[in-house]
Order: sequence, then C-alpha cells, then structure tokens
Amino acid sequence: MISIHDVCAVDSLGSRLKLDPYRLRQFRKVFYRKQGDASRSLAELPEPARSEFADQIVFHPLRLESRHDSQLDGASKLLFRTSQELLIESVILRMTTGRTALCLSTQVGCAAHCGFCATGKMGIARNLSAAEILDQLVQANQLLAAENRTVRNLVFMGMGEPFHNEEQLFAALDVLFDVSCFNLNPKRIMVSTVGIPAAMVRCATRYPDVRMALSLHSARQDVRRRIMPISERHSLAELREALEEVVAIQQHLVMIEYLLLENVNDSPEDALALVDYLRGIPVHINLIPYNPIAEAPEFVGSDRKHRESFSQTLKQAGLPVTTRYSLGADIAAACGQLVRQEHRQRSARLPVAP
Ligand code: SAH
Repeated sequence: MISIHDVCAVDSLGSRLKLDPYRLRQFRKVFYRKQGDASRSLAELPEPARSEFADQIVFHPLRLESRHDSQLDGASKLLFRTSQELLIESVILRMTTGRTALCLSTQVGCAAHCGFCATGKMGIARNLSAAEILDQLVQANQLLAAENRTVRNLVFMGMGEPFHNEEQLFAALDVLFDVSCFNLNPKRIMVSTVGIPAAMVRCATRYPDVRMALSLHSARQDVRRRIMPISERHSLAELREALEEVVAIQQHLVMIEYLLLENVNDSPEDALALVDYLRGIPVHINLIPYNPIAEAPEFVGSDRKHRESFSQTLKQAGLPVTTRYSLGADIAAACGQLVRQEHRQRSARLPVAP
C-alpha cells in the first residue's frame, strides 16, 4: 500500500497507469485543499486509475477515536488510534484572534523523560510515520470545515520529541511545504525541542524559515539536569552553541520556553542565570505556568508573585517575554498532559520499546 503523502510513490503509480498529469494534479488539489475527502479526490480520476488508486492508496492511517471540546476555551482534543491500536493526541487551538492552530504529535510516548511531563512518564512506544503525522492535520481540517475554519499554524508540541524522529519529521515537513500538496508557509510552523543540538542545526539549515522553540526550563546545569535528563547528554554550553548557529542560519528569533516551578527554577538567581545564558541571542521567551500532572506530585507551579517577579527581571534586562497559558486544561489537552489520562482510564498498558 502507498501513502497519499508519499509524493514519489503516488507519482509513479500515476505514470504506471498512464494517468494524465493534469488529472493527478486535480486529484491532489481536491485532497489537500478541500479537506482531504478521499472519495471526492478519487472522483477526479478516470477509470481504471480511480479503482487502482482506491485499492492501493492509504488516505488515513489514523482512526479518530474521540473528540473532546473544552468548555473553558477554544481547544479541542482529538484522540487517534494507530493501526497497532496505540493512542496519540492532537489539539486544535482556536485563538482569540480568530486563527486556528494545531498541536501535533510526532511519537507515541517520548524518550526524553522530562520529570514534569505526562508524556515523558509514559516512555516511548514508537515513532510516528510522516503519514501519521500529516493525517492529524488532514483530519483536523476535515472537522474544522464544519466551522469554516482551516488550520493556519502548526506547532510540533504534542506528544514526543520531534528531533528523536527527525527523518519522519523532515519527510512530513517536505510534504507540508510541497506546492502540489499542503503548500503551507514555513513561517507558520514551529518545531519545539528538548534541545538536541545537531538536529536543531540540521533543521535550521534545511528549513531556514521554520520557527524553532527550545524547551529550556533552566539555564543552570544542575537544575536542568534534575528536571530534564536530556541535559546529561547535551550540556547547556553545547546547547548555547547550537542556538548561536541556528540564529546565524535562520536570521530570526528562537522561542525559549520556560516552565516556572516553585523552588526549582523560579528564583531571582534563576532569572539572572537565564538573562546571562541568552545574552546576544535574539529570542522571545515564553513563560509557561505548570500544568500539574498526577505522576509528578513533587512539582508545584510557581505562584503569581514569583511568576511576575521572574518576568520583571527578564524584561528589565531587555528580553521580550510573554506568559503563555495553555488552552484545554479541562480536557487534559494542556501542555504536558497529553494521552496519559486516556491510557490510565482505559488501563491500557503501553508497550515500551527495548
Ligand atoms: N518534546 C518537545 C515538545 C513537547 S511539549 C519539547 O520538549 O519541546 C511542549 C512544551 O510543553 C514543552 O516546552 C514542554 O516542556 C512543556 N511541558 C511539558 N509538560 C508540561 C506541564 N506539565 N506543564 C506545562 N508545560 C509542560
């Protein structure tokens, strides 16, 4: 079977069947621009190509299991099942500006094991394929069509570490930017990472316009090591070099994400360490209030007073700062909360890769 998103394979199927290239272009146009309806796109093809395409092409590798709409804000969580019955999630974010963003998953689980993250507590089951990554967008757009919306911005901030699945991530990005497929503007895509230096540089080189976000969460090596085990492998010094390289290549801001945890990383010294660490790098800092998760009772989010004084220190140093509140807290769709709850409710045990 061939994935609809495998551009070369679909092209060669078309040539094998002596399909008029114009028809193939129409087929893709209907699929990618008209909310991915398989039957409507197939209707663009003459026989026998229509039946061959219907038999050989997989349009949707994921099954939509359920949808949860937030009562608090404009978030909807989509729970998908892979063909091996594993669960992943995407989150639709309806912004107050009227725009729509989609938060995508790249893995089932995550191997980064950040202490404050529910997905990190699951361990890693497997990487998603490019087709599975893209189907989250296709199906979200199908649902959004009923509201006359389409996804405008994509953030790779769902389950998983995108750079631990670099090959499929890049394959997905290629299809997102392909003019005959999604034809998205790379500036509207943000890849968020725990900080894998070499992969950050590779991504910046290959996609200079894609926005990059770094989940820093501490600029002190001992503190970062405690909350993000990845720091054992890639030190802050190494990360700083990668940041310099990334901005030199991309020539635009890098987003720095900073989760504020009481008595862990929210003191005035922590703020000054951050100022010092980021000196000379064009950044925008997003302070993220902690979304509590049951698996990490040792962490408590910083109170408003600490958050404000932390933010003040950064502002005084001239750093652009915003505080980001996650949407979807009531449907366990907020940052760091994805899927764990469903797995617990179903008491499904996730196979853990060796
Ligand atoms: N692996 C990528 C993307 C995943 S999560 C990364 O780490 O960047 C997106 C953001 O949510 C990251 O900044 C992550 O650190 C943050 N996050 C994880 N758990 C959280 C929690 N419980 N509360 C708030 N933010 C959390």
